[in-house]
This record gives sequence, C-alpha cells and structure tokens, in this order.
Amino acid sequence: MDRIEGAGMDWDATRAAFALPEGVIYLDGNSLGPLPRGARDAVARTLDDWQARLIGGWTGAGWMDAPDSQGDRIARLIGAPEGSVTVGDTLTLKVHQMLAAALRMRPDRRVVLSDSGNFPTDLYIAQGLLDTLGRGHELRVVPPEGVTDALDGDVAAMMLTHVDYRTGRMHNMATLTARAHDVGALAIWDLAHSAGAVPVDVTGAGADFAAGCTYKYLNAGPGAPAFVHVRPDLIDAVEPALSGWLGHAAPFAFEPAYRPASGIGRMRIGTPPVLQMAALSAALDVWDGVSMDAVRARSVALSERLIAGVEASCPALTLASPRDAASRGSQVSFRHPEGYSIMQVLIARGVIGDFRAPDILRFGVTPLYLSEREIDAAVDHLAAVMAGREWDDPRHRVRRAVT
Ligand SMILES: *Cc1c(COP(=O)(O)O)cnc(C)c1O
Repeated sequence: MDRIEGAGMDWDATRAAFALPEGVIYLDGNSLGPLPRGARDAVARTLDDWQARLIGGWTGAGWMDAPDSQGDRIARLIGAPEGSVTVGDTLTLKVHQMLAAALRMRPDRRVVLSDSGNFPTDLYIAQGLLDTLGRGHELRVVPPEGVTDALDGDVAAMMLTHVDYRTGRMHNMATLTARAHDVGALAIWDLAHSAGAVPVDVTGAGADFAAGCTYKYLNAGPGAPAFVHVRPDLIDAVEPALSGWLGHAAPFAFEPAYRPASGIGRMRIGTPPVLQMAALSAALDVWDGVSMDAVRARSVALSERLIAGVEASCPALTLASPRDAASRGSQVSFRHPEGYSIMQVLIARGVIGDFRAPDILRFGVTPLYLSEREIDAAVDHLAAVMAGREWDDPRHRVRRAVT
C-alpha cells in the first residue's frame, strides 16, 4: 500500500478500517460501501446480547435508544445539531414521511416541485402520496437548472436530491433553500449521495427536511437503515402521516390514540433494525475524527485525477459529470453507448464501478479507502478495455437484474 497524503488525515488508517477483497479496485462505494472491519464484531456482539439478554436487550443493550443515538453521530456529518436526526426504515419511507409532513404544513398549496435528476423512488413516492391524498396536487418535475424559475407561490414543497445519482451534479443547497423559502415553500433534501461524500450543512442552508441512506458512502451494509433530519424549530409542527407506535409520545402506554413524541422521535415508525444498526455503529466508528473538509479535498483530487486519466486515454468516453469540481459530488460518470458492456468487462478485470441506463458508467470516489495508485490502475484497465474493444462481445450485453 503506498502512502496516501491529504489534509492532515491518516488515510492509511481509514483504509485499514475496511476489509476490501484482494485484487479489487472498488469504485462503487456510492452504491454499496465496503465492509468496515469492526462490523463483524459489532454484529456478533449484538447476537451475543440477543442470546444472553433476550428481550432485556431492548433497554439493557441500548437497542431502543439506538435510532436517536446513532442519529446524533450522523448529525455531525450533515451539519445538524444533536437531537435533530433519527435512524430507521428505508430512505424511500423517509421521503414519504418528509413530503407528507411538508404538505400538511402547507395545506393551501398544491404543487410539489422536483427535478428530472431526482432518483426514481423519490418521484414514485411523491406521485403515490399525491394520488392517495386525492386533493388535486401536482408533481411538477423540471430540469435541474430550471428549479429556481419553477418556484412560485403554489409550491408547497421543493423536494430535491442534492447530488444527482447518475451524473454527480450537485445542487447549491443553501441558494435553492433560500429561494424556496422566499416563495413560502418548504425545502426537502435527499442526501443519499451527499452524506459522507461531501460536506453538508443542513443548518447553514436552513433545510427544512433532509434524509439519506447509510449503506452508500457511510458503509453500513446492505439493507442498512436511513436517517432523517427535521429543522429543530419545525419538528413540533410535524404531524406524522406514518404515525407508528415508536413515534408515539408513550409507546409503552399502548394508548388507543396517536400522540406524537416530542422532537425528532416522532419520525420513528416501528421497531428498529437492531442487527443492521450494529453494523452502522461500526461504520460510524470509522468516521469518528474524520473531517468532511479533508474528505472533500481528497475526493476532488482523486476525481480530477480520474477525469484527466480517462480523457487522456479513452477519447470515446465523454464526461457526464460537471467539469467544475464545485458542482460535482463524489462520483465521476462518463457516457458511452456501449456503457453496459464496457462496465461488465471492467468488473471482470477487478475494477468495480456500475452502469446506469441508458449510457452512464459511474465511478464512486471514496477517499476513506481509495488511493491515487488505484485510480491510475483503474484508468489503465479502462484504457485497455477501450483500445482492445473488449466490450464488443454479445456475452457482455446480457443485462443482470442489478446493475
Ligand atoms: C439510493 C437512493 C435511494 C434508495 O432508497 P432506499 O429506500 O434505500 O432503497 C433513494 N433516493 C436516492 C436519491 C438514492 O440515491
């Protein structure tokens, strides 16, 4: 392992915190982060607790409090104060919760504004919720650069994904949130590709709601729960639509009627995924002491290196990500009509990125465990695949269920 330099951080140590398979260059941590070494023990300890404590684990092993205590650890990474983040469920559900809450806060408005760069689940959930409400709401989807102009006095909520999952294009959260507030709309941010990827300051931006997942850049493993943040001065006005018992003020009073918990606890729904949260806890241990500014500086440097290398050696690939680092998250994407086959061949060579329809090759840049040497090696592999037309084989065009 060559020495990794960068902004006072010991990147060798963060790299060593992950159990990456030999011979693999992992450029897909934006989709599923790798295994933190501590996760195995953390999950095993939780299994031991389950075995020994049985139902006593809920309080004795802290299982019941974990959603809020782990929420506090994530809060630091997104610029949120303690007590304003809780963990649980999936991001898809959190999007539903945030949007439903926002619409209840703007009962006279009928428009949800989003953009065509949003992740499908966010748009599907919005459409489903609006249909269920049956009150004539409109989902207004505009191009990403058209959001500002589409904000008007009809908009109840502006619901955006901060970093585009395909291209890595990054919205200006502070500016757009301020514009939404200017017209009286609430701002909902999906941080799926932001948390652990770029510095986020939900407080500075004045974001009303924000949520993200923990299995991408935060590395908590497949099926790890989502997190949700609500601006502290708004939370007591949130009337949860998914009014589950663990978001109740007194879950164990088993009252017949719902009363929301005070604070962020009302964004909880049901039983927390305890084993998965053990893995999350180990994943968050790696982030302790890591500065997001240092991660960002290194992410930009590695991304620039990847772009320069690919552009110099693979003229058939065109950059799909913004060239300006300031408007790019922590991934780099290229377009090619045969992108799917190219990625299959690259993966067979041990360079794992992914493909997003119709023509995007996506590479996640994750400074905690990637080195310059690996970026250079990935570029060399890609150049060889392109120069040798290795992708030009019908076998590589067979689509798998998960791309
Ligand atoms: C990954 C991703 C999701 C995934 O939602 P799940 O409920 O975790 O499956 C949602 N939104 C965005 C923007 C994503 O990138």
